[in-house]
Amino acid sequence: MSVRTNIDEVTSNVPGEEGGPREFGISTIAVHAGARPDPVTGARQTPIYQTTSFVFDDSEHAAELFNLQTFGYVYSRMTNPTVSVFEERIAQLEGGRGAVAAASGHAAQFLAAVSLMEAGDEFISSRNLYGGSLTQFGVSFPKLGWKCHFVDPTDPENFEQAMTDRVKFIFCEGVANPGGIILDIERISEVANKHGVLLIVDNTLASPYLLRPFEWGADLVIHSTTKFIGGHGNTMGGILIESGNIDWFRNDKYPGMSKPDNAYHGLTFAETFGDFGFTMRTRMVALRDYGATLYPTAAWNLLQGVETLPLRMQRHCDNAQAVAEWLEKHPKVNWVSYPGLKSSQFYELGQKYLPRGKGGVFTFGIKGGFDAGVKLIDCVELHSHLANIGDTRSLILHPASTTHRQLTDEQRESAGAGPDVVRLSVGIEDVEDIIADLEQALAQT
Ligand SMILES: *Cc1c(COP(=O)(O)O)cnc(C)c1O
Repeated sequence: MSVRTNIDEVTSNVPGEEGGPREFGISTIAVHAGARPDPVTGARQTPIYQTTSFVFDDSEHAAELFNLQTFGYVYSRMTNPTVSVFEERIAQLEGGRGAVAAASGHAAQFLAAVSLMEAGDEFISSRNLYGGSLTQFGVSFPKLGWKCHFVDPTDPENFEQAMTDRVKFIFCEGVANPGGIILDIERISEVANKHGVLLIVDNTLASPYLLRPFEWGADLVIHSTTKFIGGHGNTMGGILIESGNIDWFRNDKYPGMSKPDNAYHGLTFAETFGDFGFTMRTRMVALRDYGATLYPTAAWNLLQGVETLPLRMQRHCDNAQAVAEWLEKHPKVNWVSYPGLKSSQFYELGQKYLPRGKGGVFTFGIKGGFDAGVKLIDCVELHSHLANIGDTRSLILHPASTTHRQLTDEQRESAGAGPDVVRLSVGIEDVEDIIADLEQALAQT
């Protein structure tokens, strides 16, 4: 289960400055948290437990497991030791209490929504989202009776304006896709708190190396681990992390957490499991019933990526900063939206929330609009034209003709995906090579 494991044991043996246990840095956590040498074989690398089920000691043990009276592994739809290591590692990187992994980022978003809402409930979301999330929230969720109010997130007051009695949470991307927008999540969390609803931050674009939303008042953090966490463009995955600071009894908005659950003999999740009650309920109710499980081999692939997350993120940021500065001076470029540039309206927020670097994903506007955007994409050689971000490779996309194509003109414009917008996910190659490729392609537009 996703409870504290080895890094705490190590911590207590390596003294910290005040004589207390040492707090390890983020690069150490990225390599070690949640894993220990295999107790049977001594294998140093986390094994892939490619099994569906786990043998019970005896009938009494089985009964205790099913009643949630003891921790242990039963069936890999809910729990698996390889997946647990991954969950624990991301929880610690985010400074959270527990985490549930899922088959994809969208699966993690669904698990959060289904755990917090009944049919007829509502939520408020930033309108600056990954295109697939706009469709999930705006088209598919309403079929389940969940209503999303989309707002312009750059003024936190807009979340306040959209609040209703049926709202259960506010959702936003702290650093917003398709790029360059940074939200004032501390102020947004104040609105959520005032109304007794949760703040969920999708931290995919920043990763915990750049931003830890719990430090600014978020209650739940979501990742598409398909992106920077895995980092190599080879594995789909998602994760939902809980802060450990949620008071489920402050109002009656979340009966699933604060009232007895008959399927588990009347236990109350928030009471029995305390600060990781939401993780337990998401796993033992939502994951159990909807089955959007992360595969053990996928968890292992993602763990390989996580080990180098801090190294990769720093390189993504350094390269992106250099490419943004170069593009800003280019005669065929109208504008560059990167918070590391003084010209960005999000420069100040970037200084506050992202001191280590402003991320690897951003947009720019090409002179010549839609046609020039399409031409540029067709002329790049080193850059890959595809619908992903956060790969080691440099990626390029023209949102208006791809990811945001199903939206109306107005929706596209408001999501920051107008006809001239080109999105880059700057990779970790040599920055001179990245710039040379853009230079030759821009020359042909
Ligand atoms: C990709 C992405 C998602 C969806 O994740 P999948 O793993 O593709 O399901 C959600 N949010 C953001 C910010 C993303 O980039």
